[in-house]
Amino acid sequence: MTAPDDAPAREASYSKTDEQAILDVISRWLEREVKPQVMQMEHDDVYPYALVEQMKEFGLFGATVSERYGGLGLRASTYARIVALISEQWMSLTGIFNSHLMMAAIVEKHGTEEQREYWLPKFVTGEVRGGLALTEPDAGTDLQGIRTRAVADGDAYRIDGTKTWISNGIEGGAVALLVKTDPDAAPPRRGMSMFIAPKVDPDTARPHPGFRTGRRLEKLGYHGIDSAELIFEDYALDARRHLVGGEPGHGFYMAVGGLELGRINVAARSVGIARRALDEATAYAQTRRTFGKPIAEHQAIQLKLGEMATRTRAAELLTEDAARAYDAGERCDMEAGMAKYFASESAVSNAMEAMRIHGGYGYSREYPVERLYREAPLMCIGEGTNEMQRIVIARQLIERNPV
Ligand SMILES: Cc1cc2nc3c(=O)[nH]c(=O)nc-3n(C[C@H](O)[C@H](O)[C@H](O)COP(=O)(O)OP(=O)(O)OC[C@H]3O[C@@H](n4cnc5c(N)ncnc54)[C@H](O)[C@@H]3O)c2cc1C
Repeated sequence: MTAPDDAPAREASYSKTDEQAILDVISRWLEREVKPQVMQMEHDDVYPYALVEQMKEFGLFGATVSERYGGLGLRASTYARIVALISEQWMSLTGIFNSHLMMAAIVEKHGTEEQREYWLPKFVTGEVRGGLALTEPDAGTDLQGIRTRAVADGDAYRIDGTKTWISNGIEGGAVALLVKTDPDAAPPRRGMSMFIAPKVDPDTARPHPGFRTGRRLEKLGYHGIDSAELIFEDYALDARRHLVGGEPGHGFYMAVGGLELGRINVAARSVGIARRALDEATAYAQTRRTFGKPIAEHQAIQLKLGEMATRTRAAELLTEDAARAYDAGERCDMEAGMAKYFASESAVSNAMEAMRIHGGYGYSREYPVERLYREAPLMCIGEGTNEMQRIVIARQLIERNPV
């Protein structure tokens, strides 16, 4: 595999010992703080304010931002392990800092030095938290079809449009906002730009009048975290501070450039769900008895457990492989796509099988497998649907193996 020129190996600020230490701290936190309350919070669909404060203290809002700007500078492989670990307990928590980190990555990778110095320290502490606003009511997979428009007005831009499904849209304070600055560009991606769009001006603490949050969207799972519509009406932003990179026309590449890390993250979330489903099923099968013996001794259940364990391990290995390639600065679009696709389908299958192994109890809200079953399908949608994932994999396969 060759490394493209613009993808140098990522220098980890954290040593391996430090990485293990942070994993240990998070494991203890999950056991003590998250596990006892997750069932209630998830069922009530409440935002976990106290847990967010604790995640701030661990530095998770700057996990992948380099130390130069106050972040932890973690490698993708360590980050993926953290995400999988947290997702075993409650996948929603990872959504609160992940799309935020994608916004930070856009600024760190593509912003001007002035923008990096201004935004990144605020992002890493969680003082300004947020996410990524790409999707619109009429454009998700086909991002070049977005309609949100930014029109130049002196040193500023005036923005109008609506975004939907934006994670952290209500509780967060800013988004990386994909817009069209030249709606006539051909191809359309050349006329797209990215802005850092805050609700409140960090310097004056005054709300920006043109940024409004719309509905909080009701969902099957992914509870706790807010998914919202965002409405922009004559929303004025100064180009120097807010237009990422300082020049229009590069937004589409910024949006899709972060997808490799995004896909590794979704793969890691899926690994967490698949692993938890396996653990729940393995434990339950040994305690539930039918026809005079634990159901784990029935061959039909053993076949399920054997498949679930194999899928989980394969998903872990694909995710580790993609993260390792990413950390080494190697090309990993196909690897990240494979990890995301396989791990998310494994999460769905394992959640379903865990529910079946639990019999009627699996359908009860008193057992965690019911939640895993509601959470898993989102993994097949986010960061590029699994339909698109297979197309991307096939295209890469052909590109790398020309005849
Ligand atoms: C809980 C949740 C959180 C989200 N968070 C965010 C967020 O923070 N920020 C954000 O910007 N977005 C977010 N999204 C939106 C998400 O990224 C989109 O839903 C996703 O990209 C799919 O777009 P769509 O829903 O418009 O589906 P569509 O693009 O309309 O696709 C519909 C179906 O057609 C298939 N399809 C489309 N094009 C093709 C093709 N060329 N070939 C084959 N099949 C195709 C798709 O795979 C899918 O099965 C979130 C969504 C959910 C549900």
